[in-house]
Amino acid sequence: MSYKVDILGVQVDSLTMAEAVDKADQFMEEKACVLIATANAEMIMRATHDKELRDILNAAALVVPDGAGTVWAAHHLGYQMPERVAGYDLAQELMRLAPARKRRIYFFGSAPGVADKAKKKAEELYPGIEIVGTRNGYFKEADEPAIIADIKEKKPDLLLAALGVPKQEKWLNAHKEELGVPLSIGVGGTLDVMAGVMKRAPRWMQKAKLEWLFRGMLQPKRAGRLLALPKFVLKVHSYKK
Ligand code: UDP
Repeated sequence: MSYKVDILGVQVDSLTMAEAVDKADQFMEEKACVLIATANAEMIMRATHDKELRDILNAAALVVPDGAGTVWAAHHLGYQMPERVAGYDLAQELMRLAPARKRRIYFFGSAPGVADKAKKKAEELYPGIEIVGTRNGYFKEADEPAIIADIKEKKPDLLLAALGVPKQEKWLNAHKEELGVPLSIGVGGTLDVMAGVMKRAPRWMQKAKLEWLFRGMLQPKRAGRLLALPKFVLKVHSYKK
């Protein structure tokens, strides 16, 4: 049973990976045309001062707790949250089920060439999978009609958008009616990891809830963004009534 937990004004779903997968499958079955967002501490912090992002998250069909920080915050605020549901893992689960469920998937985002490499990897990992289209995530406004037309033509059941936060959420929300895709998910660095462009933290670090530290170390450009985490901890602490 899933329920919503208010973390700094963002309604996050408290649910297991298995429940998230079931819901995602149901959205595709119903052709619901909805969004799933994957909320880590950084995204929630951004939503505290970006009202457009906050409104999109609060209207999303599902906001899964991506990241140890989100799960910690729910517990600290006195709510139950069974586990972390990372966007990367959710995307892999949906891809694993896709061949049997005959789901068509479109990869949109990351640098030129990355989505195609990720497609090859998906075809290796999940035989029979249909990645019906790919498109990199670097485009001008003038390119958008062609991107939208391609997605519409390929008729995916699932659109994985890896444009970074909050670009992916805002883009998906702005175009969801026009696209008519049953389910769209903003997946951040997922295509980079699949293509081998970026490494995911080793299992032990994920288990020790240190994935954020690994990403900060690997991408020094992001190091400044690590500050979002202590700020998040302090904010959640004072949010507690
Ligand atoms: N990205 C993109 N278009 C952009 C900016 C970023 O496709 O205009 C891609 C980037 O190449 C990367 C992904 O978005 O593959 C996620 O970026 P980042 O790790 O910075 O985002 P996060 O999800 O961690 O905020």
